[in-house]
Order: sequence, then C-alpha cells, then structure tokens
Amino acid sequence: MFEVTVDYSFAAGHALRGYKGKCENVHGHNYKICVTVAGERLNSTGLLIDFIDLRAALRELAERLDHRFMNDIPPFDAINPSAENLAKYFSDGIDAQVRPHGVRVASVKVWETDTTSATFIPPAS
Ligand SMILES: [Zn+2]
Repeated sequence: MFEVTVDYSFAAGHALRGYKGKCENVHGHNYKICVTVAGERLNSTGLLIDFIDLRAALRELAERLDHRFMNDIPPFDAINPSAENLAKYFSDGIDAQVRPHGVRVASVKVWETDTTSATFIPPAS
C-alpha cells in the first residue's frame, strides 16, 4: 500500500459549546491539517495521487473556514468545532474527492497548537 500526505494551515476562531473552562469562550487557533491518503495502485505516471490535486482539495475545504468564526459555518453551527470534529470534516470532504481515483483517506490529524492534536481514522470500507 502507498500513502501520500499533505499539510495545510489556516487560522480560525471557535468556541466550544458546553465546555466547562476557557475553551467555552471565543478564541482562535492557527490550525495545521495533515491529511494522509492511501491506495494500492499507482497511476501511469507513478503517482498515487498528485500532491497538487490533494492540496487543492484540502485548501478548498480549509478556505471555507479560514479567518472565520467556525461556529457560524455548517456543520459547526450544529456540532462543536473541536479538533476531533474538524478532523472528520476534512476526512469526509477529502474522501469524497479522492474515492473516484481509487484512493481513500487513511487519517486526518488536526493540530490546534504545537503540542495538541486530534486524529480521525475513517472506519475501513
Ligand atoms: Zn480552541
């Protein structure tokens, strides 16, 4: 199996509803998203997926959130914009775009700070 990984960074604000502590208040992070996709077969060029295409898909999803208050933007108007839920948001969005190419998301890691991250690993399907 082959894996390809790209990173992308953006800045956004959020507040965690129902959290008892400082993170209940509006604040922001410089997020780093690390997406790894996997597949068995390379294309005729010898690539699993073009880094440029994967980065473009990631950028498109991130730009919906960049410099915004995420609690106002679906699906985070309904679910908390936690690092965990962000990881699933990026995983679902990227997976839909890479599946037609025979590639799947292996994991998405969302770094909220230099020392804290959450990872979503989609169930095997
Ligand atoms: Zn936070």
